[in-house]
Amino acid sequence: MLIDLRSDTVTKPCDNMRAAMAKAEIGDDVYGDDSSVNRLQEMICEMTGKQAALFMPSGTQANLIAVMTHCKRGESFVVGQSAHIFQYEAGGTAVLGGLLPYAIENESNGTIKLEKIKKSIKPKDIHFSPVSLICLENTFNGKVIDLDYQNEIAQFAGDKKLMMHLDGARLFNASVATKQSIEALTKPYDSVSICLSKGLGAPVGSLLCGSNEYIEEARHWRKMLGGGLRQSGILAAAGIYALENNIERLNDDHELAEYLAAELKNLGIKIKDNRAHTNMIFIEDKEEILINLNKWMKSKNILLSYSGQGESMRIVIHKDIIKDDIQILLDNWKMFLNANQ
Ligand SMILES: *Cc1c(COP(=O)(O)O)cnc(C)c1O
Repeated sequence: MLIDLRSDTVTKPCDNMRAAMAKAEIGDDVYGDDSSVNRLQEMICEMTGKQAALFMPSGTQANLIAVMTHCKRGESFVVGQSAHIFQYEAGGTAVLGGLLPYAIENESNGTIKLEKIKKSIKPKDIHFSPVSLICLENTFNGKVIDLDYQNEIAQFAGDKKLMMHLDGARLFNASVATKQSIEALTKPYDSVSICLSKGLGAPVGSLLCGSNEYIEEARHWRKMLGGGLRQSGILAAAGIYALENNIERLNDDHELAEYLAAELKNLGIKIKDNRAHTNMIFIEDKEEILINLNKWMKSKNILLSYSGQGESMRIVIHKDIIKDDIQILLDNWKMFLNANQ
């Protein structure tokens, strides 16, 4: 048996979700005829309070299209230096969008300082690539981003006539952790992308939300990028099931992450910020120890997220992990510590 703690993307559809997929009503979504896709898009509009939504194969595509729809070729957008859009999306905005990321260092709480954003805004001048968009991410490495901060940035963006995009891949984790509605968390933004295939447990899919006009234009980019799918209601049905059944249970993941963090602290393990953030824990130790720990766990069929270098290792809790798995992890960790003293 494998205990996979690398990411919440490894979650597999449960039998009930598969049953919902099997009996989904479908049509050709490029023609707008897939009733399951349409229903999923309506559901997320209701939750976010945005006018329209578009179903996409991945969060990477949703963010790429989000940014391409906001910005014209040659423009810049502000983004966190450690943000997913900047670090982990293969440079798509530059390669495919002709856009210049203006990357600003993230603070440890996931924000980027307003003073630094202000410096990105230059006077109108033929030499400069004008900034037209600010992108934020919530949750950021599992951390919930302060809503007052986001409102402050949105106020600034409004004054400067900049658009606001939220990479909300794990926004539902932020919502259940803070008991704030998705609508409240997306209000400061013109657009938001949300992943169904992480903690929510769908096999595939992300949603991009925004105004009617914005989503109409996004639909054009989605087609160009090859994201126009046909009978995608089979996939959307999994998303509908996820939104109906898997939101509140994210609390279980957060509780289990807290439990694990407390138990690891008892073992003397150093944890970043001394706590779990939503469904994530970051272990801090010397590189050689993390390399050995990762190998040790792998030999016991336990997978952790470690790049093979650096002094930080990620553990992610998700719906396919139960407390017994965590017990097995802890037992193996104790054995590792005994063997390496
Ligand atoms: C996973 C993730 C994405 C992209 O999702 P994919 O579906 O894997 O392309 C975007 N942003 C953040 C913050 C993520 O964690």
